[in-house]
Amino acid sequence: MFLSVFDLFKIGIGPSSSHTMGPMTAAARFLEELEGNDWPRPAGVKVERVGASLHGSLAYTGIGHGTDRAVILGLAGEIPQTVDPDKAESIVAAVTAEKRISPPGRSSYRFDPATDLVLDRKTPLTGHANGMAFYAYDAADRLLLKRIYYSIGGGFVVSDEELQRMKAKGTVTTEGKNVPYPFKNAVEMLKMAEKSGLSIAEMKRVNEETLMSREELDTGLDTVWDAMRGCIERGLTQEGIMPGGLKVRRRARQLHDKLQEQWQQNRPNPLLANDWLSIYAMAVNEENAAGGRVVTAPTNGAAGTLPAVLRYWLHFHPEADQASIRDFLLTAAAVGGIIKSNASISGAEVGCQGEVGSASAMAAAGLCAVMGGTPEQVENAAEIALEHHLGMTCDPIAGLVQVPCIERNALGAVKAVTAASLAIKGDGKHFVPLDAAIETMRQTGLDMSEKYKETSLGGLAVNVVEC
Ligand code: SF4
Repeated sequence: MFLSVFDLFKIGIGPSSSHTMGPMTAAARFLEELEGNDWPRPAGVKVERVGASLHGSLAYTGIGHGTDRAVILGLAGEIPQTVDPDKAESIVAAVTAEKRISPPGRSSYRFDPATDLVLDRKTPLTGHANGMAFYAYDAADRLLLKRIYYSIGGGFVVSDEELQRMKAKGTVTTEGKNVPYPFKNAVEMLKMAEKSGLSIAEMKRVNEETLMSREELDTGLDTVWDAMRGCIERGLTQEGIMPGGLKVRRRARQLHDKLQEQWQQNRPNPLLANDWLSIYAMAVNEENAAGGRVVTAPTNGAAGTLPAVLRYWLHFHPEADQASIRDFLLTAAAVGGIIKSNASISGAEVGCQGEVGSASAMAAAGLCAVMGGTPEQVENAAEIALEHHLGMTCDPIAGLVQVPCIERNALGAVKAVTAASLAIKGDGKHFVPLDAAIETMRQTGLDMSEKYKETSLGGLAVNVVEC
């Protein structure tokens, strides 16, 4: 089952890929269906009003994750890739004031967020923890159209029917494509690498080039890295309190200034690399928490880990160049695709092991590859990083992607570098295969109480008093 590098690294806005980008995409998709001719409507009857209901984890932590805002933006005609984070508030305010959506180039419908957007915590939808439904009514308030969508992690959205088809195929992922190296797991990836003599990045590149030209691929990869780097740079210049009511202060800029000061004064710092990794990761996740422009890697909540490791590579390794950035991203995407196809990258499905754990594994693989690791060493690096995130729960305080998420990305980055460093010093042989770690993550996620899967009903979310 093939997932493109651009399925995993999607440019959008924060704070959550599953709870912000996914619902925005679903709302935009509903609008498109509504305006199309693929559903039966009685002759002469017009849609007057639309509505939406959020279920499961989207209902529990939707407000903290900005899901309500994302649905309004989607119904107003915005999509994650192009929405301007600086204009989002005014668009939401206009819809709220006018009680109407007027997406450009489309019909206008009544929609009062206060009554037409419902957080339904009592009736979870059966397909997935992140379910939502959209409705269209006529002037007499008769239901004309209802569509159910699921946000399955990393910004991916599927309809009810698509989800059933995926489950029937035994995997919850996008449609399969014919590619020259169709590895479904790490064992197959290593066998194909051995047989072809290609690196993981080279195999991934060949696969991607069946969908697009080399130039398009390289431009796309450079655009992804530009967006990641831009997010780090913006995060390092911002100060103040992040939105949502927790009153969590941004720290990346202040830490960055301290580190610069130490460097200017030639003060020794044995933790220099760790400090930079943490600052880079926190800069991204603070931007994400503030609703800024970020790249899923593989999700928004885990968006800081991989860019921090890649930025570390450029900072500390003089041999780093543009080609190595592309190889890093391709290798990381190969590992991320295997994890998503065989387990999950969604905190609502398997806890934070699937988000920051996957991000750390992807970053470790990417770093090991550009440091010259063999495919076996790369697989080992990913395995070490994932293994030591197993069992990690998702318990964001107040449903906001701030605590523990921001620091957690920093720690995910530190673990990724350690994992790559350990792996590259070995010969690739190791005790726990990556596939076993992925399967363990899947099973652990299945056994995990719902309290620890992005519902904010357990863990830190109930043990830390909000003030
Ligand atoms: S705890 Fe982890 S999985 Fe949960 S919202 Fe935060 S980063 Fe995402």
